[in-house]
Amino acid sequence: MALQVELIPTGEIIRVVHPHRPCKLALGSDGVRVTMESGLTARDRVGVQDFVLLENFTSEAAFIENLRRRFRENLIYTYIGPVLVSVNPYRDLQIYSRQHMERYRGVSFYEVPPHLFAVADTVYRALRTERRDQAVMISGESGAGKTEATKRLLQFYAETCPAPKRGGAVRDRLLQSNPVLEAFGNAKTLRNDNSSRFGKYMDVQFDFKGAPVGGHILSYLLEKSRVVHQNHGERNFHIFYQLLEGGEEETLRRLGLERNPQSYLYLVKGQCAKVSSINDKSDWKVVRKALAVIDFTEDEVEDLLSIVASVLHLGNIHFAADEESNAQVTTENQLKYLTRLLSVEGSTLREALTHRKIIAKGEELLSPLNLEQAAYARDALAKAVYSRTFSWLVGKINRSLASKDVDSPSWRSTTVLGLLDIYGFEVFQHNSFEQFCINYCNEKLQQLFIELTLKSEQEEYEAEGIAWEPVPYFNNKVICDLVEEKFKGIISILDEECLRPGEATDLTFLEKLEDTVKHHPHFLTHKLADQRTRKSLGRGEFRLLHYAGEVTYSVTGFLDKNNDLLFRNLKETMCSSKNPIMSQCFDRSELSDKKRPETVATQFKMSLLQLVEILQSKEPAYVRCIKPNDAKQPGRPLPRSPGQGAAWGGAVCIPPPLVPRYKSLCPETWPSWAGRPQDGVAVLVRHLGYKPEEYKMGRTKIFIRFPKTLFATEDALEL
Ligand code: ATP
Ligand code: MG
Repeated sequence: MALQVELIPTGEIIRVVHPHRPCKLALGSDGVRVTMESGLTARDRVGVQDFVLLENFTSEAAFIENLRRRFRENLIYTYIGPVLVSVNPYRDLQIYSRQHMERYRGVSFYEVPPHLFAVADTVYRALRTERRDQAVMISGESGAGKTEATKRLLQFYAETCPAPKRGGAVRDRLLQSNPVLEAFGNAKTLRNDNSSRFGKYMDVQFDFKGAPVGGHILSYLLEKSRVVHQNHGERNFHIFYQLLEGGEEETLRRLGLERNPQSYLYLVKGQCAKVSSINDKSDWKVVRKALAVIDFTEDEVEDLLSIVASVLHLGNIHFAADEESNAQVTTENQLKYLTRLLSVEGSTLREALTHRKIIAKGEELLSPLNLEQAAYARDALAKAVYSRTFSWLVGKINRSLASKDVDSPSWRSTTVLGLLDIYGFEVFQHNSFEQFCINYCNEKLQQLFIELTLKSEQEEYEAEGIAWEPVPYFNNKVICDLVEEKFKGIISILDEECLRPGEATDLTFLEKLEDTVKHHPHFLTHKLADQRTRKSLGRGEFRLLHYAGEVTYSVTGFLDKNNDLLFRNLKETMCSSKNPIMSQCFDRSELSDKKRPETVATQFKMSLLQLVEILQSKEPAYVRCIKPNDAKQPGRPLPRSPGQGAAWGGAVCIPPPLVPRYKSLCPETWPSWAGRPQDGVAVLVRHLGYKPEEYKMGRTKIFIRFPKTLFATEDALEL
């Protein structure tokens, strides 16, 4: 890894363009470099603040040891070049106050200890001065602190940026969109009590004065299966518990709900309605207030809550078999509430829950469902109602965040700052289609990260005609390809099986997978495994070697979840709903649509491709979050070796941007150099006594091998 100094054909001979911050550095007593800035206390200097400053900065062990030392002192932030590494402290460290924000405003990176706000401020200043769109990509496994970081960033911008002339309320809306989306899109999992179960990319728009004037959110694949099923120790989405705990008596009466979550089958599967770290009652109040801020009228709140309640009632719909084994609804009271809350005809809903409509040769046939099919139809309806409402909610928030000044000249000159907060890499005992999608998404972003950082750097060396030994890193493109390649990727094969209804099963999908990708080094099944690994791999499972660790997926439900079928008469029933939100969610046009809709995995893949394009079009900044332990506990030391899924592998060293001007250090280049810039640099480095092994001249850049070489030059400037 080398620091780069770009040759710029201007009056100035060299300007360090790419590489980052240090400037004033010296050796610490332990032989480690520390920054010498007066703004830093001794405590701030534990370990090194920027891992690139470590002598052996390509060693993973040294990297972890440095993080450990700092984490022991509650120093949760460390840089690796331009990447901010953040270790989740699982406690409030009081480091996000207004004073902290002020401390980081308008100062250079190296003058202050590493902090999320330093990234926030640097990104914001780049947006203002270069007028280029920016994107902060926050990654890390589930529970590592991505969502918290996103919220702190938003808070930073809301509090420190100038207020726009008009539409100052946008700041509140940006902030208040969070509790609402979290209530509907987050849930307790075994990995995280507030786990994001959807991906979120949010653009904040700034006018030419740097004031936030609007925003836009893109959401990615909500884990809707959670609506009807939760694994042991997990919960459904927060909103259900919030409503039951916090909802006013009158509201609950209107919705026909009891306070006790145990009364609802959709809430009891995980057997943990109460979570010590969560206060559903106070969260409910926050959500209610937030809804008002993001422009919900009281009527809309009522409509929304009717839908939430209807999902709970749906879960309690029971069926009994009649003498012909056909399903009959036995829970009349639930059906009555459902009819009212969804504003549909009772008889239509009853029929739709127990029959399937088939159109054959232009004729409609009603075929009765058996018990299993009816339960399936009911759950499919609950999932569709909830996930479509979630999408509607995102749309509604977007309308509220849309800049009201679209026609003004300032609108045209807006720049955007994107914040990416997705669901983190996760491994459970039992992993299914949902984990497959989530982990694929993480793979994809890791790939983008590699492309934007390491690869581009090495390509740059090549373009400059320089041969450094390449920094070894694992390029996860092979895994992305394994998942998404046309014809022979896992998604393609899954889609193919989904086109064979009646014939294909989850197991035929697995067999096809085995046949097609059997030689792939990142793929394994029971059949393909050797004697030793076979024990840990079931017959209905496949294992992927992700960049962040191994995950074994059970194929059960893959076809079904990918098809995401909702029977036609259920759709028709919902299209007739008079609940204004439902009627926007279910549109009649989809009834006449003859084209087969894209499968869930393919839709997800396409949306990720679009996301990658969006991110590629912006100047990137990176925050890599790390989870210190699986117990969600504060005060524990960081383990010496990364746990499964910790994904240290993604941390790479990239050199820092400096702003030095060295021409004064050499009489021949001072006060200006008239010749070719390349020659000027050659003269300069010769004068400075750079040894041949310390640097390489590229076509347009000089690459300085060791940070210390450049630091010594920097020190010389000071003298
Ligand atoms: P997922 O991928 O599951 O959504 P995540 O990376 O978004 O995970 P968060 O929800 O941000 O994880 O963090 C999990 C929990 O860790 C938070 O609810 C909070 O309790 C704690 N936490 C995270 N970051 C911090 C921080 N900087 N300071 C204090 N506590 C934190
Ligand atoms: Mg999250």
